[in-house]
Amino acid sequence: MADDRVDGAGLRPAESVAGGGGNPPRVPASDRDELRALVGQFKTHLAMRGRSGLLGVVAGEKRRPAPVTAAASPAPAPEPEADNAGPRPGAEGLKLVRDDLGDCQRCKLAPSRTKLVFGVGNPNADLLFVGEAPGADEDAQGEPFVGKAGQLLTKMIEAMGYRREDVYICNVLKCRPPGNRNPEPDEVAACEPFLKRQLGAIRPRMIVALGKFAVQCLLRDDSPISRLRGNFRTYEGIPLMPTFHPAYLLRDPSKKKLAWQDLKDVNAALARVGITPPNPPAA
Ligand code: URA
Repeated sequence: MADDRVDGAGLRPAESVAGGGGNPPRVPASDRDELRALVGQFKTHLAMRGRSGLLGVVAGEKRRPAPVTAAASPAPAPEPEADNAGPRPGAEGLKLVRDDLGDCQRCKLAPSRTKLVFGVGNPNADLLFVGEAPGADEDAQGEPFVGKAGQLLTKMIEAMGYRREDVYICNVLKCRPPGNRNPEPDEVAACEPFLKRQLGAIRPRMIVALGKFAVQCLLRDDSPISRLRGNFRTYEGIPLMPTFHPAYLLRDPSKKKLAWQDLKDVNAALARVGITPPNPPAA
């Protein structure tokens, strides 16, 4: 096995709405952004409902548990939920998210980006990978994980038995931080609602969070990735496996074995609910 194979091995309470007459109250910009995000989430929700009939309830349908917040709970032996929640918004839902992003100017990364990097892959994917932010190659091409780290990620996905187009790949940030610096909190805050909506549209059965920024963003847990990796968690009811970022694996190839173990555990958890890759790896 070549060395770069990982298997080698709100709106605040109606503070101003009460009181009746007069001019409508000014809504602070941050609240407007939040309101926009809520409207977007509602649109995605409606798209999903629209595909599952009046009021979204298919006869006999067993509903997924209501999404909770981004908080995570330890889930040592997660079972991906049975796929009984009716149609997923998929491509239609993703399009709404993309349309709402538009020519995004919501944060200070906008002026320096070449291309906004939304996400790529199967809109109905069972398996979804979340990275940190586009780098130079991704910024130039408008596609996540196409540079050196991306090539390693592709090999990791293929080693699991999938092709890139079988899964969905996206990032916490949609625009490149200059010089590949770390994402800053205001940038994450501006972009995260769109990631949430992407996840809500795709509703994957399993999320693989690549590296500390993706894990911290999704789980609100700033423990070191070396401690978090390898232990299943949940994100809004979806099992989530934290693992090393491929860029880190390029810097420290000795960690590839651990990452490969994480991905094998992901495959095993999915297999328990009947989801197997198109080209399963030899046992
Ligand atoms: N690193 C990431 O986290 N995402 C990319 O798209 C590329 C490199």
